[in-house]
Amino acid sequence: MILMKFGGTSVGSAEAMKRTMEIVRARVDERPVVVVSAMSKVTDMLYEIADLALSGAATALKEKVAALKQKHYEAIEALMGTDSYWAEEARSRVKAICQKIESSTDRVEIISRGEYLSSNVMYCAMNSHKLPTAFADAREFIITDNDRMQGEPDNAEIVRRAPKVIDAAFGKSIRGVLPQTVITQGFVGATSTGVETILGRGGSDYTASLIGMAVDARRIEIWTDVDGIRSADPRKVDHTLCIGRISFEEAAQMARSGAKVLHPKTIEPAVTKNIPVMVLNSMNPDGEGTTILAADLIEDGVRSVSSKEKIALVNVEVPALADSSAILTDLVRTLKAHRVNIDLINATADHIAFTTDSLDRFKQALAAFDASLNVTTDTTCAQISVIGKNISELRVALRNVSDLLLKSPLTQVSQNNTYVNISFVVPAGEVAAVVRQIHEYLFEK
Ligand code: ASP
Ligand code: MG
Repeated sequence: MILMKFGGTSVGSAEAMKRTMEIVRARVDERPVVVVSAMSKVTDMLYEIADLALSGAATALKEKVAALKQKHYEAIEALMGTDSYWAEEARSRVKAICQKIESSTDRVEIISRGEYLSSNVMYCAMNSHKLPTAFADAREFIITDNDRMQGEPDNAEIVRRAPKVIDAAFGKSIRGVLPQTVITQGFVGATSTGVETILGRGGSDYTASLIGMAVDARRIEIWTDVDGIRSADPRKVDHTLCIGRISFEEAAQMARSGAKVLHPKTIEPAVTKNIPVMVLNSMNPDGEGTTILAADLIEDGVRSVSSKEKIALVNVEVPALADSSAILTDLVRTLKAHRVNIDLINATADHIAFTTDSLDRFKQALAAFDASLNVTTDTTCAQISVIGKNISELRVALRNVSDLLLKSPLTQVSQNNTYVNISFVVPAGEVAAVVRQIHEYLFEK
């Protein structure tokens, strides 16, 4: 079995859906399980619809839901015409989902419907194009805790349930033919008692990896709209390179350091079973993309420069004579209790500095801090990370290239035998220029 995840742009129009169908068709010998995101922009629309539903703006809500329905109807017509069995089936499914969206006042129920719309349209389209496909509902096996907007998956339960649901789906004929593939939704899940949850923005990659782990997939393919993972963000740097191979650890570090290619948690489930993850481009299906593998298969060298904006740099002064390790322990406990993600951290006898991207959660955590501590929060900075494997000379090289590294209020080097990650903080206004400068030095000479 293999997992194939298609992001919003790969199902963003009838044309994209057709391309995606052909990519799946070319893999049917490997029993693909297909995971789809919502059509691009749909999840954003659903967030707006949820706000309208909760504020009681009935007219605006109706208009937005009508636009959403129309978008999917247009895709259905372009894919299947209007009067076939599957066209009618698709329209009636889309209509029912849109009715549910319009009548709901539950934020998660609304936001998670985008994946049901796209997966139902794709399901019907694949069957109508002679690609017999079964439909599986991710709520039956992506089991999470009770954090409904950011569900934490229960891996053991997923491993118990997913193979059963997926095998059963492969074994049941659709209008007299056995399916060659199974389609399901990314991003959505449910608690063990069946309350709907989502995995957080961009969570469809994570879904694919969780299912891949549960069914012992041979490979997890993440299909997106760029040629694999790049050496830097192409919006910041002109001459980025495609990374051919990268280790699980380096890729996880990159995702956590702001590279937008994969949801940061995608790698974790794949690593547990050592399943290769490929990042491929659905607009260029013959491209090589990036393969993420165990570190011993990866050569030494620098892989990427990434950056992360919208972070807070927090500085906590340790009062004279106070026990800094007790303060640190307390601080970490409070942050953890509020599920604040600590990125970089640096603790000395007189201060503790850290960065976080969980800005809202951090505000709540801050209220629970010991009130006698002097805490300052700076949200005008960004962090830059250079990632690779066994790059001992790199730190020196970086110093030569950027004096901002020397001036950085917080620098962290994390290193083991599978990766090196050198991260530092710069003023937000400088980030693009510094990334370009480092990239040029490391990759363009
Ligand atoms: N549709 C969801 C989002 O936009 C999940 C995903 O695309 O992975 O965040
Ligand atoms: Mg997406």
